[in-house]
Amino acid sequence: MQNIKQNISLKPYNTFGMNVKATRFLTINSAKELQTLISTEKGPYFILGGGSNMLLTQDVAALVLKNEIKERKIIRDFKHSVYVAAGGGEDWHQFVLWCIKNGLGGIENLSLIPGTLGAAPIQNIGAYGVELKDVFHALEAVNLKTGKLEQFKKEDCQFAYRESVFKRKLKGKYFITRVILKLSKSPKVNVSYGAIKNTLAEMKVKTPTIKEVSKAVIKIRSSKLPDPAKIGNSGSFFKNPELSAGAFKKLQKAYPQIPNYPLPDGRVKVPAGWLIEQAGWKGKRIGDAGCHAKQALVLVNHKNAKGKDILKLSEKIQASVKKKFGVALSREVNVF
Ligand SMILES: Cc1cc2nc3c(=O)[nH]c(=O)nc-3n(C[C@H](O)[C@H](O)[C@H](O)COP(=O)(O)OP(=O)(O)OC[C@H]3O[C@@H](n4cnc5c(N)ncnc54)[C@H](O)[C@@H]3O)c2cc1C
Repeated sequence: MQNIKQNISLKPYNTFGMNVKATRFLTINSAKELQTLISTEKGPYFILGGGSNMLLTQDVAALVLKNEIKERKIIRDFKHSVYVAAGGGEDWHQFVLWCIKNGLGGIENLSLIPGTLGAAPIQNIGAYGVELKDVFHALEAVNLKTGKLEQFKKEDCQFAYRESVFKRKLKGKYFITRVILKLSKSPKVNVSYGAIKNTLAEMKVKTPTIKEVSKAVIKIRSSKLPDPAKIGNSGSFFKNPELSAGAFKKLQKAYPQIPNYPLPDGRVKVPAGWLIEQAGWKGKRIGDAGCHAKQALVLVNHKNAKGKDILKLSEKIQASVKKKFGVALSREVNVF
């Protein structure tokens, strides 16, 4: 393939700003282009979207495939709902704004999440009481071994909290080229999250539209989360642990003030950020690898940290949370 670039820095392509090299790098503009590549170039491949959920700890020897597949199209139009198809390389937030402009509701609470459409199903992105799975209909993906374009329905994706089959059994096996969402033409807004309610009240909005909910979410996120353009990060580094009722009761006895969110299946979710903060890590740094001062769940690259420095810091945090609370934190970010 003549368009393959050699030895390029991935620094502009990952939000942690890790300056690692890709031996070979190729942008993919269509499913067809990818299928042609697979028929001529055997892997291994490394799929890159917006690079906002990865920590690169070393140079990448596999052929990097940067998803640039663009499309935004209403493919089925009903009285109250539509099916919208989007290319895997579309920017998620720009897509959300486009939907809002077209009066299509369902993803306004997911405003300002960085990254691409194609990566959104990988960890079933979520924020402020909404997850991708709530509006997901189907996706198309190219099997990287056979080159075949396959369709996955919602039930095939095995969505769970920041999880899907593409993070487990099918990890690295499929390149998601197209995502189809079912959105509402007469949307009911979801303002169940306290922070959204309070921000809308500050904005003096009584009966919010999807546009106003999006604005409120953008306001909250901008005040709370570090902007990767200013300080390298990948959003939440860890997942919020989901504990059995028994394990949670024990913990609550020792720490009565522990925040908690009971889940429908009887387990209890506790905020990883609170555990990390109580373990004394909020605002701490080891060299240029740091735990953010406003949001302990976010690890940051103050300037020249290497991927390995961030990884080491994350392991220290995991060990100290385990020691203090007996809770194992698992990573949300993909480490390479
Ligand atoms: C400031 C900040 C805030 C964030 N807030 C949230 C949040 O509120 N909620 C949330 O859920 N996430 C959040 N994230 C994480 C991130 O935005 C999402 O996980 C996003 O979906 C990642 O998209 P990406 O295109 O950047 O993926 P990348 O980082 O490029 O890739 C992530 C993984 O998916 C694989 N992959 C990427 N594209 C494809 C594809 N087309 N097919 C197959 N595999 C693929 C990659 O190989 C990699 O393993 C945040 C990140 C940042 C930096």
